[in-house]
Amino acid sequence: MIKIDIQNIKSITTGLLLENEPMINHTTFGVGGLADCYFMPSDIIELKEVLKYTYANNIRTFFIGSGSNVLVSDNGYDGIIISLKKTFKNLEILDNGTITSDSGVMLGSMVKKATKKGIEGMESLIGVPGTVGGALYMNAGAYKHEISNYFHSALLLDKTGIEKIYKKKDVKFDYRNSSFPEDEILIKAIFQYKKGDIETISKNKKEASNKRKMSQPLKYRSAGSIFKNPNKKFPAGYLIDQSGLKGFRIGDAEISTKHANFIINRGKAKSKDIIKLINIAKNEVFKKFKIELKLEIKLLGFEYD
Ligand SMILES: Cc1cc2nc3c(=O)[nH]c(=O)nc-3n(C[C@H](O)[C@H](O)[C@H](O)COP(=O)(O)OP(=O)(O)OC[C@H]3O[C@@H](n4cnc5c(N)ncnc54)[C@H](O)[C@@H]3O)c2cc1C
Repeated sequence: MIKIDIQNIKSITTGLLLENEPMINHTTFGVGGLADCYFMPSDIIELKEVLKYTYANNIRTFFIGSGSNVLVSDNGYDGIIISLKKTFKNLEILDNGTITSDSGVMLGSMVKKATKKGIEGMESLIGVPGTVGGALYMNAGAYKHEISNYFHSALLLDKTGIEKIYKKKDVKFDYRNSSFPEDEILIKAIFQYKKGDIETISKNKKEASNKRKMSQPLKYRSAGSIFKNPNKKFPAGYLIDQSGLKGFRIGDAEISTKHANFIINRGKAKSKDIIKLINIAKNEVFKKFKIELKLEIKLLGFEYD
């Protein structure tokens, strides 16, 4: 493992640099050990410098948004975690439906501001607790809409800090997946939405929000759906429920009684308990239905567990 020389990074940045940072503070699950270094660059210039440095020094790097789809190991992460959530926040919404958003903008904030202006096409995404960068990387979706539907182009930096532009034709989006390389960081994106009727848009947004509140255990910390739905007929939650696992608990980690594809943290859950529940759900569903559940969430730092 390469030891990070924090002083070296400090000398090339003015951004917030935290050493041995508990990932509990940066994930919606509220679990995870220490990251060697957690960094929020002040601007793109210093982000480029830090990427050049980490690349040249062979330092492991992970990009995180609001950590709402990530499970970090109890043993933490040996490397630097970079987030744009606090500092890359510019959002420009034009009346014709063109939206330019920095990656660190919260998706919910973009949805609220755009729908107020009568821009249509993203209202069902209300309540997805990610950043625009994380949402695009994951191709977040809800109630038949995906963020990629109105995607136009994006600016990324590669692992050496070089700028790259991706147009719609350059990116393949699938269900909860995009072809953006995992060693490149999304900086900003442009979307081309449509204009619509404000009242209808607000009604649809409210309906989506209500459905979410009715069906998801939002009182507890979680990472949303753990598994991808294998198909429309048999959603993962149904399969887990039918395997008799609703409410099954290890320590403070529990398969939600409200939505069986959610694992909730009842307080002091550990990643290792969540992983055990994940494996139990996979095994039981396979035993009963011969269907292999695939993770939607991203795992970080489990290589050495
Ligand atoms: C209560 C709850 C409800 C949810 N409901 C939904 C839902 O309805 N639909 C849905 O699709 N998801 C849902 N999610 C999951 C999650 O919110 C989305 O996947 C979200 O888009 C992730 O965004 P994030 O910023 O938190 O990304 P993170 O979780 O931080 O990261 C997710 C992935 O994106 C990558 N990434 C993040 N930012 C960048 C960047 N700037 N550049 C490059 N890569 C990046 C990370 O490396 C990681 O691989 C839910 C989660 C919760 C907790």
